Amino acid sequence: MDVRVKNGRIVDADRVYQGDVYIKDGKIAAIMTGDEVIAAAEEIDAKGNFIFPGGIDPHVHFNDPGYNWRETFSTGSKAAAAGGITTIIDMPLQNTPNLLNINAYKNKAEAVKNASYIDYCFWGGFVNDNIADFDGMADIGAKHFKAFMSSAGSDYPFVNNGIIKKAMEKLAGTKLMLGFHCEDYHIIAEEEKKITQAGKNTRRDFLDSRPLIAEFIATKNIIDMAGYTGAKVHICHVSHPEVAEEIRKAKHQGVKITAETCPHYLVFTEEDMLEKGTLLKCAPPLRNRQAREGLWQYVLDGTLDCVVSDHSPASSEEKLDDGGKKSIWDVWSGISGVQTGFQVIFNEVYHKRKLSPCYVAKMMSLGAAKAFDLYPAKGAVIPGADGDLAIVDPEKEWEIKGDKLLYTNKISGFEGLKGKGCVVTSILRGQVIYQNEIIVGKPGYGRLIQ
Ligand SMILES: [Zn+2]
Repeated sequence: MDVRVKNGRIVDADRVYQGDVYIKDGKIAAIMTGDEVIAAAEEIDAKGNFIFPGGIDPHVHFNDPGYNWRETFSTGSKAAAAGGITTIIDMPLQNTPNLLNINAYKNKAEAVKNASYIDYCFWGGFVNDNIADFDGMADIGAKHFKAFMSSAGSDYPFVNNGIIKKAMEKLAGTKLMLGFHCEDYHIIAEEEKKITQAGKNTRRDFLDSRPLIAEFIATKNIIDMAGYTGAKVHICHVSHPEVAEEIRKAKHQGVKITAETCPHYLVFTEEDMLEKGTLLKCAPPLRNRQAREGLWQYVLDGTLDCVVSDHSPASSEEKLDDGGKKSIWDVWSGISGVQTGFQVIFNEVYHKRKLSPCYVAKMMSLGAAKAFDLYPAKGAVIPGADGDLAIVDPEKEWEIKGDKLLYTNKISGFEGLKGKGCVVTSILRGQVIYQNEIIVGKPGYGRLIQ
């Protein structure tokens, strides 16, 4: 054996048990629960700790190539490794060029191939005129195509129902999936117009400009279209239980739908954004306290398949409002969180809510592996799977501080948050990539999953 991770408590989807995990040639070769020991070249003692499947974050924006002042594959993947995330799926926008065809896909694969510390996939892009390019991207490994129902900037046009219907009819019956940012463009445009014409410019005004109905109606629309066409769809960053309830009903009716939410919707509220400011500006925006609590029910019952960071970094100049001097409308919308999601969710589930760590395994790994067709190679500590592990010390106390973040921009809305339990060792295909607060992996060891 190459590696033996011993004395830990292995966390499955439905049980936690004592055992040793053996890895050979990058894959989990055996799990031993008795006294028998097999010789291994390297031993890692996980005494007192939980052994989780390596985290999977299917929604990050590493901005590489092209927007490297915000993040790179190198810094983003290091941060992920430090947070127990061993696989990410990177978003197709804020790339030069955006991933809208096979050439852009190949260009990106080439650009980042020596950079990543963790395994990765790319979302393909879906805009108003590139359905014909899906086949080319799918041929070289794209399995998911991301579209916006609201504005995502002029170089990434949002889609309308005519285009969505065409794309869904094309992909229905295949394993390929369409993912959607669900907020209705027209509702938000009218709200913004009303508010800005009245000269309003506060944090509260931003929250009011993106009302729940915009997210609700856009999600309902995708559900209805998916039901009508039979296509597989994924709803990105659900922020509210009323939206999740529609997804629950759709799953019940047999619609091929999966969905995600983010740690920020599960721990923060709009009051936090009003108080803490633009570091917590995101879209959809944070909701009220009741909504936050309601959302948990849908994570725990599995309606929301996974918890993702939507890591969406920006420079201080872009992200901060300079003490109110910069307009709220001009501040970058997005939160950096790929490094801290695992520990935040572990603390919430295990310590605050006194629930089984099995929920954490589902939320941070297994759910995404199944939704994004990575299972059983990823997502579970089982023989035959990749040797991807996140070892968590359940009692280790932490406070999230900027100088500990490995991002290009060491700022995050999560700064200041305190809790207990965090990743102490990350292992990718049998190689330790993070241990004792140090990145020990090598850039380029992480590979593109096709
Ligand atoms: Zn995003």
